[in-house]
Amino acid sequence: MSMRIVVTGGAGFIGSHLTRRLLDEGHEVVCVDNFFTSAEQTIAPLLEHDNYTLIRHDIIDPCFIDGPVDRIYNLACPAAPGHYQFNPVRTMKASVTGMINMLGMAKVKDCRILQASTSEVYGDPEISPQPETYRGNVNPIGPRACYDEGKRAAETLCFDYHREHGVPIRVARIFNTYGPNMHPFDGRVVSNFIRQALAGEDITIFGDGEQTRSFCFVSDLVDGLMRLMEAENLTGPVNLGNPIERTIRDLAEHVMAGTDSGSKLVQRPLPPDDPKQRRPDITLAQDRLGWQPIVTLEEGLSTTIKYFASIDLSQWTPPTPFWEAPPQRT
Ligand code: NAD
Ligand code: UDP
Repeated sequence: MSMRIVVTGGAGFIGSHLTRRLLDEGHEVVCVDNFFTSAEQTIAPLLEHDNYTLIRHDIIDPCFIDGPVDRIYNLACPAAPGHYQFNPVRTMKASVTGMINMLGMAKVKDCRILQASTSEVYGDPEISPQPETYRGNVNPIGPRACYDEGKRAAETLCFDYHREHGVPIRVARIFNTYGPNMHPFDGRVVSNFIRQALAGEDITIFGDGEQTRSFCFVSDLVDGLMRLMEAENLTGPVNLGNPIERTIRDLAEHVMAGTDSGSKLVQRPLPPDDPKQRRPDITLAQDRLGWQPIVTLEEGLSTTIKYFASIDLSQWTPPTPFWEAPPQRT
């Protein structure tokens, strides 16, 4: 059945891939985005599509869309540390006021809404892997809190709209995801390392590089999001991520091997509150969605490296000044 689907943040990295999949499956997509962290180039191929509509809008302001809406994917929020720490108050507003606006739309349109939550709700976790039942270890007053606490509050709002107004919600806790269409100046580790390796520049490891992340390729993630949206009787939260944990140093070595780079690894200060470990327990997604990632890090990096090698960096403007590292605010 063809549906009319709103994707907020649809011009961004994950949103652009999700949109392509939805259009390919015959749905109509309405993208709502203020282009804070995205670039027009990313969605240029989508603009040609008959079933695609772009609305330039900041979800901090109330959002009205004519006609029926069957599904809302709420992805609008700066996601890279340098982006979300640039204007932390607006980041919090995007998660809280933006979430209220989009839940209001779901209530009025009587439709399902999926919230793109994050592994950051677990903060700097004391247990590994992290199951959905873990309540987290977030510093509420640190530089990452605008994002972590904003996303936690957004989850609260989803569940309160669900309990109080019966809004059908789906909450996905997304772990580190990478792939083509990441903004080359978003400052995230995969984009930084690939850009640096291709240019033969030093590869910047923050801290000793022994902190871990679990990297999920974007096609796997989008598949998980769509399965969760269409699952019956499942609000979540559901962890979506790759359960294979890597040190940041290991990632750097994979990128160097994949680019045949002569770059050197150099150490830079570890940003405050940088989580030491992150690895999803995906048992719930496996059991309830029949989902698990299938793309290996080698395959995913190879595709991403080809993408980064194909783009002309002079055509891209950094969304914030913090594209080499997040600001060192105390
Ligand atoms: P992204 O920065 O590429 O995309 C975010 C999009 O939202 C951009 O197009 C941006 O312009 C838009 N946006 C930001 N604030 C907005 C606002 N107030 N109104 C309208 N549009 C706004 O990031 P992404 O990696 O594609 O992340 C998408 C979503 O997934 C985010 O909500 C993020 O928190 C979540 N997420 C991503 C990851 C990851 O590893 N990529 C991990 C966990 C959660
Ligand atoms: N990182 C790094 N070098 C970089 C960018 C990031 O070592 O050039 C580290 C960062 O300190 C963190 C990890 O890589 O430990 C992942 O950072 P990212 O910003 O991609 O996402 P996070 O998971 O921290 O939100």
